[in-house]
Amino acid sequence: MPEQLFTVKEVSLINNCPECFSKEGLQLTFKQKFIDTRFYKSITKDIYTEMHCTICETPIYPQRWTEDIERVYEYHNKAFTPKNPSTKLKQFTWILIGVIVVAIIASIGLSVYLKV
Ligand SMILES: [Zn+2]
Repeated sequence: MPEQLFTVKEVSLINNCPECFSKEGLQLTFKQKFIDTRFYKSITKDIYTEMHCTICETPIYPQRWTEDIERVYEYHNKAFTPKNPSTKLKQFTWILIGVIVVAIIASIGLSVYLKV
């Protein structure tokens, strides 16, 4: 899978879990998508958030959020700074570009040489 998610930030919330009503379990996770291929590595600007409870091990979907959770979520969402999107070429790609450039120069050199 070239597309992967990495965790940028984890926040513990002090809201009650809608499933087990624990006040210590809720955790909000911010994830950002990155693409890792043979040619390049790229951080995208796609952000995903997940909430789960560490006490009852339940994912808490937005349908289950209470007003308090929504408010806290909005707050953290605004405070969240994602990583800057970027793309880095891998060494393999640079070598490939190098080979192509050398081939172009060689073919230009050869055609000049043949015309003389
Ligand atoms: Zn819970």
